[in-house]
Amino acid sequence: MLSWVSMSCRNCAMFDYWALISRLVCLLLLVWVSVPISASSAQPISPAEELPVRKVVVLDPGHGGHDPGAVGPSGLAEKLVALSVAQEIREILSPTYEVHLTRDDDYSVDIERRTEVANHYRADVFISIHVGGAFGHQGRGTVIFYHRRRNTGLGSTPYRQYGNSWETGEKPVLWENIQGKHTAESQLLAELVHRHLTGKLSPVDEGIREAPLLVLKGADMPAILVEIAHLSHPAEEAQLRKPGVISAAAQAISEAIKEYFRKAD
Ligand SMILES: [Zn+2]
Repeated sequence: MLSWVSMSCRNCAMFDYWALISRLVCLLLLVWVSVPISASSAQPISPAEELPVRKVVVLDPGHGGHDPGAVGPSGLAEKLVALSVAQEIREILSPTYEVHLTRDDDYSVDIERRTEVANHYRADVFISIHVGGAFGHQGRGTVIFYHRRRNTGLGSTPYRQYGNSWETGEKPVLWENIQGKHTAESQLLAELVHRHLTGKLSPVDEGIREAPLLVLKGADMPAILVEIAHLSHPAEEAQLRKPGVISAAAQAISEAIKEYFRKAD
């Protein structure tokens, strides 16, 4: 048909035009027939080939801005040490995990806001980093805390969510003590950080403690607070000024986080 049109109407521009349309129709038909064949031969993407979801780590360098935290005898401020440790941990872990800091410079952040950042990013772990102080410069050592609420006498439930607090006549508090859901995982995280970090900065091991901690109680994920050393102690402040010591602390906490994810998965 194609050749008949083009042969019988060689001098007619209109018929040449129809011949061109006919060729295009044939070409489209060929493409239409070939598409299902190539689609059926394509390999489906198996679940194993999908990109894995990266674990999320939120680090909270304590204090900042007008709040220096503890200040060592020679003037080293807790807020700066905590920030350096958090930034180094981020550098170590970023190739593997998604890492966020509650502050990335020397400015003030409300305690509630710090917890909000961890919840906002749906963190898999939340670690608040401090370098404690003690009156009289007597206290020293590394200590790890996880949250345990005070016994309020309001019942045996380990945590209470917003919704029924009006029944007790109390002021409603969103996410109050949601951290109670994660106590076992927080204890595991505390144990691993304790194992990796103890002895890196101070010869004194103050162990793992439980305490009602404002920055952790509203965190809806495994969460701990780490006092990597006591900056108020002259020997520990001097240790923190030595080159490589902050990096060693960051490396130890990073190793603990990696081990936590291996064990928790
Ligand atoms: Zn502190």
